[in-house]
Amino acid sequence: MPVCAVYPGSFDPVTYGHLDIIRRASRIAGADGRLIVAVLDNSEKKPLFSAGERQDMLAGLTREFPNVEVASFSGLLTDFARENGVNLIIRGVRSSADYEYESVIAKVYGGLYGGAETVFLPADGRYAYLSSSVVREVAGKNGDVAHMTPQSVIGMLREKFREGK
Ligand code: ADP
Repeated sequence: MPVCAVYPGSFDPVTYGHLDIIRRASRIAGADGRLIVAVLDNSEKKPLFSAGERQDMLAGLTREFPNVEVASFSGLLTDFARENGVNLIIRGVRSSADYEYESVIAKVYGGLYGGAETVFLPADGRYAYLSSSVVREVAGKNGDVAHMTPQSVIGMLREKFREGK
């Protein structure tokens, strides 16, 4: 059965840590498989970037991977998985805290939808400290985030903070 993987997240904004997971998950999916990067559209979380902006950001940054597509979802990831024939859920794990959290979520997903297996990819050592919230925090105070996220995202961050959000 070809792999149809989903990598869900908030991606608010995308970081080099996310992009590293996407690159590795794209290899796991292989030439005959697909990887769907799925943006969680949850306005209750009051994201800095709208789901559409986050999708555009990801689409631009994943153009080099022919088996990667970008989508958004609201509600349960397991419903998205069922509707899209997903058989693999990808999560990145940076720390033991991430592992504890992700293990619970994976159990819950397994109970809701038996058609997909969750796999954890360990964060690359270079990005293990990186999170979207750190990028938002530093960029919001005019700090240099060039080692955390690509130029296209930095441009969007500048624009966003200029808008005074
Ligand atoms: P969420 O709101 O679901 O935590 P994120 O956008 O923060 O969404 O992260 C999505 C996924 O990417 C999660 O599995 C998270 O653990 C993983 N992730 C986030 N940052 C990194 C990183 N620097 N390296 C590897 N994985 C990461």
